[in-house]
Amino acid sequence: MAERDGGLLLFLTGAGISAESGIPTFRGPEGYWRVGSVNYRPQELATFQAFSRMPDVVWGWYLYRRGVCRHASPNAAHLAIVRAEERLGDRFHLVTQNVDGLHLRAGSSLARTYAIHGMIDFFRCARECTAETYPIPDALPLDWAKDRLPTPEERARLRCPRCGADGRPHVLFFDEYYDEPRFHCESAQRKALEASALVVVGTTGLTNLPMRIGAIAAQRRIPVHVVDLEPNPFVEFAEVTGGEFLRGPAGSLVPELVERLVG
Ligand SMILES: [Zn+2]
Repeated sequence: MAERDGGLLLFLTGAGISAESGIPTFRGPEGYWRVGSVNYRPQELATFQAFSRMPDVVWGWYLYRRGVCRHASPNAAHLAIVRAEERLGDRFHLVTQNVDGLHLRAGSSLARTYAIHGMIDFFRCARECTAETYPIPDALPLDWAKDRLPTPEERARLRCPRCGADGRPHVLFFDEYYDEPRFHCESAQRKALEASALVVVGTTGLTNLPMRIGAIAAQRRIPVHVVDLEPNPFVEFAEVTGGEFLRGPAGSLVPELVERLVG
């Protein structure tokens, strides 16, 4: 176990860990966004192409989602991961696909958390004059009504502080690629090469960086522990590494697992 052999314990989390906090995936009807008579689907809005064409519409959708995320609270699984970090210090790392900010609000440190799909509470320069990210200013309300667009004054608050260009949500759009300066892509894989165990919580492995992390763990034969409501591609990694598949809700299974691994 990570605690005994002095190795690194790596966590990889996805939407399933936040579902118990009431955060929808925004891929279904709850993500639909109406502007005038047009109804946009999430897959159409979360693209750089859509942002370039209709930045107000895309910003409105993200500011609404940011409000939904902020009104949710971290659950027992997020808190258990904080306890693992408290006990392991530098022998802990967290890679998350979630943009909701719940890990940081639970108490995970920014330094040991790689948000590989970005963070909904932050924006950055749309012209990419720097990889720097900035918190969305408090002046933008959290009680953002569904289908509301930002005013010109609100958009002005979201300009790049460095060059004055428009700001954009700090998220990885569907038509963009992972990179190191913004999304810690290489660092996340390096942690998978250093880890002595991997815990995968609530991710279906639909995107390629999480799957690569699982594959690295499987090649290195470090135990992969998978927590999910349903079987997913990571379960195969658990089987070949002598890890385990814990089927059920993260809120009860992750605290037990953390206790067992580092308690
Ligand atoms: Zn800029």
